[in-house]
Amino acid sequence: MKKEWFGGRLTLLFAMLCAFALVAPVLAQSDSSSISGTVTDSSGAVLPSAKITIHNNATGADRSLTSNQGGDFILSHRDDASLDKLQTCRDPEKAVEIAKYDDAGNYRSLKTAPNLRHGWRLELATVEKLRRALDYFYPGRLAVFEAWKSGYLATMPLRETLDRQSGMYRVAAKISDPQINDLVADFCRSDGGCLRTILWKRDRNGEIASTKLPGEKFDLAKDQMIASSPPGSASPATAAVTFTVPLLCQEACNLLVAECRRIVKGEGN
Ligand code: SF4
Repeated sequence: MKKEWFGGRLTLLFAMLCAFALVAPVLAQSDSSSISGTVTDSSGAVLPSAKITIHNNATGADRSLTSNQGGDFILSHRDDASLDKLQTCRDPEKAVEIAKYDDAGNYRSLKTAPNLRHGWRLELATVEKLRRALDYFYPGRLAVFEAWKSGYLATMPLRETLDRQSGMYRVAAKISDPQINDLVADFCRSDGGCLRTILWKRDRNGEIASTKLPGEKFDLAKDQMIASSPPGSASPATAAVTFTVPLLCQEACNLLVAECRRIVKGEGN
């Protein structure tokens, strides 16, 4: 079975799976591959151990995988892809709870921060359940990616986002350009800050969000997890994942706006 990327329902699904595998959860197979999926025959019956090849039109690369015995989609943290003893659940709503706290029990206010907790496994029987789970992990990111693919995604310069603020956040617009340069480099960085790929500019003139971030931070083709890792530090499970769909940042989030206000007000962390 050979499918084209984005060419049909099945391949679109795999494209999404690969994307999220690269960001935090991994779509794991027991053979240490990083993606898996449900394969059915024309009557809808599950085809266990079916071989599938995905073809990437952009790179010409093929990737093969085999469905598991139950035909489920399997999500786990990418670091846990090869682990067997994980807390397993079949309910996509469980993703809400998993995404809420990091390994140390701290609340995750930014769902695209690289601090998703470990130790869990979701086995999801349908595409709809998979989509729901992914949307709980990364709210809105599937829809934004679909909009980008269709050419309809609008981006908003940071200065315009700040100018739209009212009330206690109105003062955030007074932040200087050098302060933005430093703040974005620290707050949005992929190694410890946020795994989204930045699409917005600093202002209407098209100035880059921060000259202190590496070019990979603005490159949709780059896996932010791997791009932010020091050379040689990627685990085999991480390094093995090659297909990615980025988590896009089309407009500065309210957390960054709050940070701009904090800087202007001269308040501490
Ligand atoms: S502005 Fe975008 S890249 Fe920066 S922290 Fe917020 S969501 Fe992440």
